[in-house]
Amino acid sequence: MPLVCPDGAVVAYAWKRQLAGQAGASAVDRTRLALKAFTDQKLRFFPHLADDSDAEPATKKPRVPLVSPANLQEELSDQRTVADFLSHLEKEVPQLRTSTYQRLDWLKQAFSLPSAVTQSNIESMKDHGFHSANQLRQGSADHVAADKVAVIELFFPSVFRAIISLHTAGSMEPDAVAFFSPDEGGSHMHARGFSVHHVFRHVTQHASMALQYFVTVKPEAALHLLLEWICSYRSLFMKVCSKCGRLLAMDKQAALLLPPVRRPYHNFSKNSSDDVQTFHIACFSDKE
Ligand SMILES: [Zn+2]
Repeated sequence: MPLVCPDGAVVAYAWKRQLAGQAGASAVDRTRLALKAFTDQKLRFFPHLADDSDAEPATKKPRVPLVSPANLQEELSDQRTVADFLSHLEKEVPQLRTSTYQRLDWLKQAFSLPSAVTQSNIESMKDHGFHSANQLRQGSADHVAADKVAVIELFFPSVFRAIISLHTAGSMEPDAVAFFSPDEGGSHMHARGFSVHHVFRHVTQHASMALQYFVTVKPEAALHLLLEWICSYRSLFMKVCSKCGRLLAMDKQAALLLPPVRRPYHNFSKNSSDDVQTFHIACFSDKE
């Protein structure tokens, strides 16, 4: 029985995609992967149904972030439109590049991004992927009228690409977010999609919970807080875990070495984005 959620088609597609990729695996492996995909999707779209072992208890009784209302109001009044805020963010955050799109334009852009994840062209990806991505970007629509903006792209070269969709075009209300590798391209790259890379799948899952939190607790500043929080991930592959002090740790459940993919969002404020703590999945569960 498929999981019914706001975009049920995507869930079913993600399962199929994962299963197809594992055609060579045994039936047991396929079943295990399907179960994992299901659990990931459940966590992502229904964070309130998460198992106690995985959930952060505080999600259920959110605390108010330490954003001083006066400062926040002042800032928000300066950045009324998405475009204003993005240009402010680009000045503030080194290396960040932002773009805005209408929904269909983003899908076209995603499809035209070079997909460099097949085994055969890993090498050419290293040589060319980055440059061709840049060339494509120059042709992208970067002057979308403020009331038409439905998709925001945050791009940190060599680190990640984050796609944020807005509830309605022109609104300041984010409704989905996903992280992808900078050298990934294809029709799965949308705010409700999942990267083919485990590390970005884990970040996406966590980011979806952060989005829910910001929208629930600070609806008027949700987009601002979410984008600032996403920008803190620019040190994803550099900043060691705040608990164990290591960059890579073996995630037993996924049987993978992963960097610290979780960053707290409960007390996040824009001023804390530079020294936000970072945690491996296991280290984070222990802490919260
Ligand atoms: Zn750790």
